[in-house]
Amino acid sequence: MINVVTLIDSIENIPGIGEKRLSALNDLGIFNIEDLLTYYPRRYEDMSVQIPSTSIDGQKVAFRGNVVSIPSFRFFGAHKSILTFKMKINLDVISVTFFNQPWLKNQIETNKELIIFGVYNKNKQELNGQKILNDAANTLQGYYPVSKDIQQKTLIQIIQNAYALYKNDIVNIIPENIAKTFNILPRQKIIENLHFPKTMLDSSNARKSATFEEFFLFQIRLQILKYSDKTNFGRSISINTKIVNDFIKTLPYKLTSAQQKVINEIITDVKAPIHMNRLLQGDVGSGKTVVAASVIFGVIEAGYQAAVMAPTEILARQHAYNISKLYADAGQNIRVELLTSSVKKSIRNQILEDLVNGKIDLLIGTHSLIQKDVLWYKLGIAVIDEQHRFGVKQRAILREQGENPDILSMTATPIPRTLAITAYGEMDVSTINELPSGRKKIKTYRASFNELEQIYSWVHQLILQGNKAYVVTPLIEESDSLDIQNAEMAFEEIKNSFPDIKIGLLHGKVPSEEKNKILTDFKNGKIDLLVSTTVVEVGVDNPNATIIIILDADRFGLSQLHQLRGRVGRNDKQSYTVLVADPKTEYGVQRLNALVASTDGFELAQKDLELRGPGDVIGIKQSGVPDFAVGNPIKDAQIMEDAQQSAIELVNTKNWEDNKINKELVKYLSETMQRYKDFD
Ligand code: ADP
Ligand code: MG
Repeated sequence: MINVVTLIDSIENIPGIGEKRLSALNDLGIFNIEDLLTYYPRRYEDMSVQIPSTSIDGQKVAFRGNVVSIPSFRFFGAHKSILTFKMKINLDVISVTFFNQPWLKNQIETNKELIIFGVYNKNKQELNGQKILNDAANTLQGYYPVSKDIQQKTLIQIIQNAYALYKNDIVNIIPENIAKTFNILPRQKIIENLHFPKTMLDSSNARKSATFEEFFLFQIRLQILKYSDKTNFGRSISINTKIVNDFIKTLPYKLTSAQQKVINEIITDVKAPIHMNRLLQGDVGSGKTVVAASVIFGVIEAGYQAAVMAPTEILARQHAYNISKLYADAGQNIRVELLTSSVKKSIRNQILEDLVNGKIDLLIGTHSLIQKDVLWYKLGIAVIDEQHRFGVKQRAILREQGENPDILSMTATPIPRTLAITAYGEMDVSTINELPSGRKKIKTYRASFNELEQIYSWVHQLILQGNKAYVVTPLIEESDSLDIQNAEMAFEEIKNSFPDIKIGLLHGKVPSEEKNKILTDFKNGKIDLLVSTTVVEVGVDNPNATIIIILDADRFGLSQLHQLRGRVGRNDKQSYTVLVADPKTEYGVQRLNALVASTDGFELAQKDLELRGPGDVIGIKQSGVPDFAVGNPIKDAQIMEDAQQSAIELVNTKNWEDNKINKELVKYLSETMQRYKDFD
């Protein structure tokens, strides 16, 4: 007999697994007994015996009956065959057909009783047979994701063997008190009812418990990491709140209460002797920059340096300009420098020297901030704007080179709350949920290309009345040069039609200095209308712009359109967005309609998910949500929330690791820890 020890034994211990099957199973991600026992079916087929009168057309069913005709069999084509016979089920007689299973013909004899599983065609009274069942005892049949190297049947057999051998070693990992609160089944029951359910209800209950287990294990690992990060790299920066408030009083506007609230949340974190990892979430135009500027001001006054990293040069430059202006207007002597790839070498060298000597207070830049030779004197806080534009690695480098500063990430790509707790699980989240007062709701319209001329003359009129406008040209993903060509064409066209207004052109190939001049001219009113590719998408701030025309709007995703629209509506005048498109797909139409219907980023993010459907793995991946084997973080959002809540409570309980109620969980986590590290 095999000496059963634990579920982390290799599956080699199970009878019937040789080298070939071992490697096939490994390919499916199954290495130990636990992997095997938690490799659950995707779906089930109901093999319980039905009768024709209550069965639905097209349904997969099993019928039990007697063969009442002499079976007919013939080959046709190269390798095709057809077998048909009549079968009597109570009073009904139906015809049964099997394609391409010639070996079955020997099993069909007149008067023999059979159970046949197949697809029922009610009109024709026909069953398209798939297989002959031996016995109807095992009524629900699980279907597993398998590969070409291993068959369903084999896998089921292996799982049966493993379950028989190991079922008594399956212990409950979820602590008893938590299991009780959320009605989580014992682990052995979960495994049994997912592989070998007696009813659909059994399996769906087991799946809920398995989902909780999966989410809970994910969350507990996350919360442990978060907890240890907070405590291990803690540093208390003593921000003087009064100084920050005095600075805020010098701003040209009053902060919204949401801005004030998040500033307080962030400052509390920075002052506490913990490491901050916080996400500031707020819709486009909600005023995140000034929140960051206020906190940074406090950090600098407390004797530390600060960093702001932005994804594009335009944005970095704009931040440098706006933030230093805020400080200067407040009469504060703070040294702000800009570091991007277009900064000259000699100037760059000077910046680096002054940075490491502590002569620079705030360094704002692009990816240039994470070059190896960028060294800090005493970095207190790093702000990462449009954080979703950066990879995990890049964020980590900034943190490492700055020797674990507090991190404030900012994003205007709101994702629905249901996904946020998974995607942002390792961060604390602050949300700005209101726009500055006095803003008028942006009016959004759809238009067709044959209305474009009219639209341009309308824009022309508005410009003559003092408005400023963007015209955004189509996104051509395959080709940069087409992208630019489109922008150039639109530019020429508008220029020729309206020689009395000043027009600018902006695209990716415009040299950075010129780009800069164009944006400044646009901001200062020397340019009335800016034709641009999507380089203006993220963050560009010209408060005077009130019109944005988006050409081929159906080429953009919903959140991108929302970002683009956010370029206007930044003052107290009425702003307009016109989506020009002749969409060819229903999905395109729906996206445009959604944008017309709502100006709320969170609502649109939810809508986006619905339009894509929860099966859209890419959409989910883009929001940073990991893959789950059992649960679906959108459909099972409530379970995720419960799992997160219990994990947070547990990890924040004193000495939870020593409490015997958590013994199996702690053991499980330490056994699987190495593995999680390896997968990183
Ligand atoms: P985002 O959150 O999209 O980054 P910004 O920080 O660029 O938004 O702010 C958008 C615009 O709103 C800027 O022109 C900014 O000066 C202005 N702004 C920020 N806060 C307020 C406020 N409380 N009242 C009025 N205008 C504000
Ligand atoms: Mg911004």
